[in-house]
Amino acid sequence: MRDFFLPFSAPTIGEEEIAEVVDTLRSGWLTTGPKVRRFEEQFAAYLGCRHAVAVNSCTAALHLALEAVGVCSGDEVITTPMTFAATGEVIHYLGARPVFVDIDPVTMNMDVALLDEAIQRCSRPKVILPVHMAGLACDMDAIMSLAETYGLRVIEDAAHTFPTLYNGRMIGTIGHVTCFSFYSTKTITTGEGGMAATDDDALAGRMRVMSLHGISKNAWTRYTASGSWYYEILAPGFKYNMTDLAASLGIAQLRKADEFHRRRQAIARRYTAAFARLPEFIETPADPPSGGVHSWHLYIIKLRLDRLTIDRDTFIEELRSAKIGTSVHFIPLHIHPYYREAWGYRPEDFPRAYATYRRVISLPLYPAMTDADVDSVIDEVVSICRKHGR
Ligand SMILES: *Cc1c(COP(=O)(O)O)cnc(C)c1O
Repeated sequence: MRDFFLPFSAPTIGEEEIAEVVDTLRSGWLTTGPKVRRFEEQFAAYLGCRHAVAVNSCTAALHLALEAVGVCSGDEVITTPMTFAATGEVIHYLGARPVFVDIDPVTMNMDVALLDEAIQRCSRPKVILPVHMAGLACDMDAIMSLAETYGLRVIEDAAHTFPTLYNGRMIGTIGHVTCFSFYSTKTITTGEGGMAATDDDALAGRMRVMSLHGISKNAWTRYTASGSWYYEILAPGFKYNMTDLAASLGIAQLRKADEFHRRRQAIARRYTAAFARLPEFIETPADPPSGGVHSWHLYIIKLRLDRLTIDRDTFIEELRSAKIGTSVHFIPLHIHPYYREAWGYRPEDFPRAYATYRRVISLPLYPAMTDADVDSVIDEVVSICRKHGR
């Protein structure tokens, strides 16, 4: 048994991040300024997209993206129930209706085979909002082609997806807007932060203006010698701008993103190789099809509950007793009280999301884990399966 608790997640912060933040503190410019500009440029260059708009969360990016494409009260946004609170609440912010499409139980992504029919059942469909679960890309060719057929916009929740490839293309260069998260558990972090990536000049401009009070110029250009005091409010915007302090972390993390990603891939491979020896108890996460690269933000195992005498919650308790932290991604949106009460959803409406939820466990996966940490997780999972197998 381990002698200290292994947390489910931990950021990897080194001297480079500290130095970059200190540099910002000494510069005297704390809020949106040169570091944010640099982080946006470097992030856009990494993805290969035209614009990256830095904001203070992925939730903010999703809200700005839906606003920018013109989602209005009464419109419908088609998404997956297998996601975090943020994906659904931004739909509510604009008075639109969340329409869920059940998942493919293997990939845990929106099942595109059900998408066409779901769109046809809508009266005012506006946006498809796919979530690339755990860092495995959705079937973007199918989604983009349906969006074109029905004249819809595609806004991707790419909170798990840095970096992810779909069919050789970087996630962040496919949909109309792609929203990334730099929350502290994500693959790179700014503490709190997000980015909206797009190739569309008009959408980028609208999101930039709305991210800072709907004002036509940002504070940096206003207060430097070349700027002026004059500004115009073009629309009632939001206060979603990223700070230079956060961007400093992002700049340092971005430099390490490939190294982080290699380590995540190695840990995922180690898990999959070990659990492949227990196919009767554990289903390992799907690998991407050819041309795809998984970000491995999360490593989600699915228990074969019919072969175990314990349920998922007890499995998690046993791991906790063995000093291993885990999580569950996600409690599907449609079973939460808000969605049941406001929209009348019932658990059986999306049976695959509900059944999958009851058998998933997310194991620790982050660059700071040692091989010994990974092996201790494997040993405990194996021993719990053997102890409670039938
Ligand atoms: C983390 C997460 C978000 C929200 O990200 P924030 O940056 O915390 O707003 C959105 N969607 C999914 C799927 C997430 O996991």
